Amino acid sequence: MRDAGVQAGWAIVVQGEKIAAIGPEEDARRKYPAAREIDCTYNVITPGLVDSHTHAVFGRARYAEQEMRAAGVSYMEIARSGGGIHSSVADLRTRSEDELFALTLSRIEKLASYGSTTIEIKSGYGLSLEDELKSLRVIARVAHATPVRIVATWLGAHEIPLDYRSRPRGRAEYVKLLVEEILPIVHKERLAQFADVFCEPGVFTVEETRSILDASARAGLGIKLHADELEPAGGAELAAELKAISADHLAAISKNGIAALATTGTVATLLPGTMLFLGRDRQAPARAIIDAGVPVALATDFNPGTSPTVNFPLIMTLGVSQLRMSVAESFVAATVNGAAALDLAETTGQLAPGYSADLAIFEAEDIREIPYWYGDRRCKATWARGKPCHALERANKLQFTASRGDAT
Ligand SMILES: [Zn+2]
Repeated sequence: MRDAGVQAGWAIVVQGEKIAAIGPEEDARRKYPAAREIDCTYNVITPGLVDSHTHAVFGRARYAEQEMRAAGVSYMEIARSGGGIHSSVADLRTRSEDELFALTLSRIEKLASYGSTTIEIKSGYGLSLEDELKSLRVIARVAHATPVRIVATWLGAHEIPLDYRSRPRGRAEYVKLLVEEILPIVHKERLAQFADVFCEPGVFTVEETRSILDASARAGLGIKLHADELEPAGGAELAAELKAISADHLAAISKNGIAALATTGTVATLLPGTMLFLGRDRQAPARAIIDAGVPVALATDFNPGTSPTVNFPLIMTLGVSQLRMSVAESFVAATVNGAAALDLAETTGQLAPGYSADLAIFEAEDIREIPYWYGDRRCKATWARGKPCHALERANKLQFTASRGDAT
């Protein structure tokens, strides 16, 4: 992760949906004399960012909770006053598939406008057969409606719905609903590539998580976990045991958890925006995780409650300034390792011949400027599979001009 392979004065040759060649500009001009050129002088081109953890299918925003937290209101009190995940669930259940599709697609365009060209989207605000399937169908429709590469994850185990929580055998009944009724349809209709569980004290126990994810793996889904976000409760150890493709959050991961992940190649996906937005003073121990040899990815965790940002470069800023990663590490985490967390490491996340033409161009002279101008939208355009990702850059018609010095 220490070397992002930065080069100056190189050209990237795109043919159709793929990168055909990358190397010094004069070589590219000689070998591809008929190519149409886009002058990217005084800009930085990176692989399109890979946002491997979002909850982009939701209805209304939950802005009231931010002020309540600032005033010291607890999570439980917010939930009792109608906030929290359950309020997003109640809201999503009232909305049509068409409405959620329009909302989600507009959010994907916003995420792309900051540099993301591959975006994972989880269900998880439905928590019923009908509403989980509705959410996953929204994700499938979005995937067809945008050049951005969309990866669907089924997170039926995001929470235990209130009506199940209040019944004596409700927890077991909900796990049964997930495994015996929802999972078979998710599998049959190929609605998700991954299954995910919120494994955390108060949500799903390690045992419940294991049974849901074992069944999901048997159905051919890849495995992800929300693990050790607030308390070290064996989530990372379980991710290693199940050979999960990623363990996400990990702000409270234990030493044993880090050692376990180091044996499996599971990607540790860190979400520093969430801890920032919640006002917590603890962040995931990224240095210890990286130094143990665990591949680290960064992601936005874009969601209406705890991380309502579409700005992936801002998350890279937090990677450097809060998680103490180098700029190169934060780029590898936002590209190569994000792709690995979605089982896409062979096709995207790198600028290399044969890889998908997934690119982002930033107004910057140096790669270090991208996390430096924190909060600013430096991204000028993104392409996924060689196609422009959002309306703004389609309007720009890909005409770039040099802009040296205007950043000051
Ligand atoms: Zn999440």
